[in-house]
Amino acid sequence: EISACLVGSEMCIRDRSRALKFIIVVAFMTAIGPVLAAIYLAREQGLATEFERVTSYAQSVADRSDRAVDQMVAAIDALVAANNDDPCSDTMLTQMRQLGISMEFMKVAGAVSGERMLCSTLGSHEEGLALGPPDSVTPNGTQLRLNAPVPFSSETPYISLERDGFIAMAHRNQAVDLMVNQEGVLFATFDPTTGNIRTGSSEVRPRWANAVDNATEAAFVDEGYIVGVVRSGQVNVTGAIAAVPARYLDERILTFIWVLLPIGVVTAIVLTSSVIYFARLQVSLPTQIRQGLRRNEFYLEYQPVVDLNSGNWVGAEALVRWRRRDGRVMQPDEFIPVAEHSGLIGLLTERVIEVAGKDMGTTLRDAPDFFLTINLSARDLQSGGTLEKLMVMARDSGARPGQIVAELTERMLVDASAAKSVIKAMREQGLRVAIDDFGTGYCSLSYLETMQFDCLKIDRLFVEAIDTEAATNRVVLHIINMARTLDMKLIAEGVETEAQANYLKSQGVEFAQGWLFSRAIAPDEFLKGLA
Ligand code: C2E
Ligand code: MG
Ligand code: MG
Repeated sequence: EISACLVGSEMCIRDRSRALKFIIVVAFMTAIGPVLAAIYLAREQGLATEFERVTSYAQSVADRSDRAVDQMVAAIDALVAANNDDPCSDTMLTQMRQLGISMEFMKVAGAVSGERMLCSTLGSHEEGLALGPPDSVTPNGTQLRLNAPVPFSSETPYISLERDGFIAMAHRNQAVDLMVNQEGVLFATFDPTTGNIRTGSSEVRPRWANAVDNATEAAFVDEGYIVGVVRSGQVNVTGAIAAVPARYLDERILTFIWVLLPIGVVTAIVLTSSVIYFARLQVSLPTQIRQGLRRNEFYLEYQPVVDLNSGNWVGAEALVRWRRRDGRVMQPDEFIPVAEHSGLIGLLTERVIEVAGKDMGTTLRDAPDFFLTINLSARDLQSGGTLEKLMVMARDSGARPGQIVAELTERMLVDASAAKSVIKAMREQGLRVAIDDFGTGYCSLSYLETMQFDCLKIDRLFVEAIDTEAATNRVVLHIINMARTLDMKLIAEGVETEAQANYLKSQGVEFAQGWLFSRAIAPDEFLKGLA
């Protein structure tokens, strides 16, 4: 569609601007797509990394909190196990001190009676230290205080566990005193059953604790923080929260962008330039064909047509080639359709006839039975000038018109009445007409009867099917019989094996061409072969 537009008809201009819009849209998408993808990936990567970090922070807090609880329980167990009648005896006080020194989190151990601490790691407390009522009591009777009073340390809040007349305390913030190399990170522990914050920064939002209602861990972004929440799996008595300011996420994303964006940009450049390259190639192909014609870049190769009975070369098919300026040779399937759409096929056919006359003129004159077939396109029939040019070529080279065979394809016969009159005119002038690629188009049989071809070329498709199980392998017989009925000569195309040649010969097919005999070859090589 894009290449169709060279002639300045109104339809073509519309097609062309539509194609251009399409190319612009595709190019825009290939330019913007990879860049957006890179940014998206960087964000996803950044989030994943920060989520992982913040959950591992929260996990550390939970672990430390669990360890503190374990130590407090261990201290109480040790004191209970001592089984001393006097819980504040010297031996007991020594043991309390040893416990306080040997444990990392458990700082103060003591003996309690009726909400008063009688003695502790810190010595004897005369009439006792008022502890106040517990904040909560666990099913096994352990009393939890979130703000246990400790002498000499009224500023530092302690958390305590009390059971069987003994109490153990740990510095409340020690579990959440995590050293991390980021600033402004919030930590907290909470009671997973109630969701109440126990210790930690006051900026921690209580609702964050709810994130692990149905899970053991969660990570999300909320109110300028990347938040990680975990529930301690070990004892399920502690939940922990860590929250990193969201600006660290932006930094992280930025570092990923530095890696991914260049890849995205390079991909975009490669994709977009290939879109533009191929689009230009397509859009400008007609222009290039025009230039190619001017620079004589089109030449012909000839494929021999062989008499199946004698094995002699009795004719040739002219097949056009295009040697580009860069040396690359383009096959007709790549440019004939473009030339047809862009209205250049007339000029191309003219050139083909001209070159064929130069290459084969002498041969045609010297061998009056030798014939040359030339492929035509639909437009060549409409213009009418083609007949004239073929006649001039025959005359100039001193050949009989009957030595020139015009190859038409079924697709060209759609406009039946126009085709019919041209074919009639050609035959009246003595030229011969062949139907090419028979069986691959949509020719109705009645066309064949009314149009009077001299020759039918059996398409490669049916020749290939000989000796196979394919359904097409029987069609070839019908084609042969029909051609015979309509008094047409037969040329089988694309004969590649001895078996195909023998079969066709046994069925009375006169001529064949194909790689079994020869490929299309340069004219001088052809003339040598013919000699
Ligand atoms: P076509 O007229 O049916 O030409 C036969 C094609 O089959 C040629 O391809 C030829 O090289 C190929 N061929 C020959 N023997 C064998 C074989 O044994 N096995 C196989 N696999 N292929 C074989 P080519 O040269 O690429 O031409 C393709 C088509 O381009 C032609 O099909 C014809 O329709 C068109 N064409 C070629 N030259 C011209 C021209 O000058 N003018 C126009 N309008 N069309 C042309
Ligand atoms: Mg042909
Ligand atoms: Mg053919």
